[in-house]
Amino acid sequence: METRTCQNCKTDFQIEPEDFLFYEKIKVPPPTFCPECRTARRLSWRNEMSLYKRTCDAPSHDESLITIYHPDTKLQVVDSKYWWGDSWDPFDYGAPYDFSKPFFQQWIELFRRIPLQGLSNSNATNSDYCNIAEESRDSYMISATWKVERSFYSNRIMEVKDSSDLYVVHDSELCYEDVISSDCYHTLYSVNCKSCVDSYFLYDCHGCTNCFGCTNLRNQSYCMWNEQLGKEEYIRRISELDMSSYAVVSECKQRFSDMCMQAIHRFANQIKIVNSTGDNLEGVKNTRMCFDASGQIEDSKFVHWAKVSAKDVYDSGPGIGMGEMMYEVFDTGIGNFRNLFTSVVYSSNEIEYAFNCHGSSNLFGCIGIRGKNYCILNRPYEKEEYELLVPKIKEHMMTMPYVDAKDRVYRYGEFFPSELSPFAYNETVAQDYFPLSKFGAVERGHLWRDKTLQNYTVTISAKDLPDSLTTVSDTITKEIIGCLHNGECSDRCSRAYRITADELNLYRRIGVPLPRLCFGCRHDERLRKRNPMKLWSRTCMCTQSNHDHTGSCQTTFETAYAPERKEIIYCESCYQREVL
Ligand SMILES: [Zn+2]
Ligand SMILES: [Zn+2]
Ligand SMILES: [Zn+2]
Ligand SMILES: [Zn+2]
Repeated sequence: METRTCQNCKTDFQIEPEDFLFYEKIKVPPPTFCPECRTARRLSWRNEMSLYKRTCDAPSHDESLITIYHPDTKLQVVDSKYWWGDSWDPFDYGAPYDFSKPFFQQWIELFRRIPLQGLSNSNATNSDYCNIAEESRDSYMISATWKVERSFYSNRIMEVKDSSDLYVVHDSELCYEDVISSDCYHTLYSVNCKSCVDSYFLYDCHGCTNCFGCTNLRNQSYCMWNEQLGKEEYIRRISELDMSSYAVVSECKQRFSDMCMQAIHRFANQIKIVNSTGDNLEGVKNTRMCFDASGQIEDSKFVHWAKVSAKDVYDSGPGIGMGEMMYEVFDTGIGNFRNLFTSVVYSSNEIEYAFNCHGSSNLFGCIGIRGKNYCILNRPYEKEEYELLVPKIKEHMMTMPYVDAKDRVYRYGEFFPSELSPFAYNETVAQDYFPLSKFGAVERGHLWRDKTLQNYTVTISAKDLPDSLTTVSDTITKEIIGCLHNGECSDRCSRAYRITADELNLYRRIGVPLPRLCFGCRHDERLRKRNPMKLWSRTCMCTQSNHDHTGSCQTTFETAYAPERKEIIYCESCYQREVL
């Protein structure tokens, strides 16, 4: 084990013997940023939901398009149809490698002259305001999703139908305001739930049907506020609550949030895992410091939002799956092998420092390449030439590194410097997971974009909306509603919002009141319901006298609940005794 000082935050971090073995296996030098700074740097290149309108830069296109690139950025932004078509050639933008300039300088010059896809989508149908929404249909304002239909205002969801306001949810239908849940049907306002049906306000419940306001339940029905009721009594009490009333829902939310504080919190939210640390894990094996990962994720470290399968992956996510031997990648997978420092790279092997490349192999420093092999900075080479040149470039990256405005040095083995990112820090998911103030972000050398409040003329304030959805008429879709926060919060408030007809239909179908906050404020509220992607060593808080311990349990664990948190945190064995 070795202790090193992070180039970025100047704190010490450890590199374990197993890490050195991994770096040796993929032939990269050990990192110079600590794990957290590495993740934040990578995320500063990932914009999931800050969308803008700008004019399409494709030749003789002049329509406006929805894009993740701010109109002020000097980039060539084109619509997806043009980008995926073959009327342009990515090789036209290539250049020979120039040994008089650092690699990252040459790469960003290529990035600035080549057409970029306005939104990162493939096979999205009737889903214009959706970004990184693969195979999505008839949806609006969803991002980082896969196979989603008729859903709205959600982030990081997979195989979801007819739902809204979800965050980290998969395989669910008719759900609303759920956080980190899966396999649910008509389950609302719930957190850390699995396989629940027709339920409201559940925390850490699995296999529950017709339950309301409950915590830590397994396979129960007709429970209300953690009390077992008969079927008829349950139905009677539920029918007394108008769940389409904003006042009723707000009161239940408050009671539920107080109740959650009293619930037993398993030290980590995990299902069927083997020898792993992290939070929100299902089915993973031999992983360290992984978050929001489910499937056959094995032998991996510092990985988040990983799905289906992955093996030997370090410092990667969000959006990885079906890949092996990956390092510092996001939005990369589906049959990938040995990809390093890539984003939006699919079905490709042996790729380094690439963006938006598909079905290719042996690329170095490429952008927008599809179905090609042996290319450097978008120039094709013979296999032999490529194999001679790439080691020379790596050598050059060591001797002529890129140095940023804060004197941080980027040699071969580092991810792209944040200062070259086309996004401001607060447009990216770095702000979701490692929030900074404007001052803090600028001090660390990030770009920052001040909140531009939409200059709408608000026609109705959220506080004047009808209390119950039952009295809302179709004309509500014509109104511009003023968010309750009115841009005065520290959230991503856009001050005003609208209700679309599809959204209104969904609210009627699942029976919920109109939202009172804009999408940005709602998303930030959901983010606060999750734990950070950090771990602390803590001791079990159980003092139950009928367990194997005398006095308080002394079991220690790695948990994403910071030591100052008020929740009651149990180790796995005490949790099992009490809940399962
Ligand atoms: Zn650091
Ligand atoms: Zn707002
Ligand atoms: Zn314990
Ligand atoms: Zn105990």
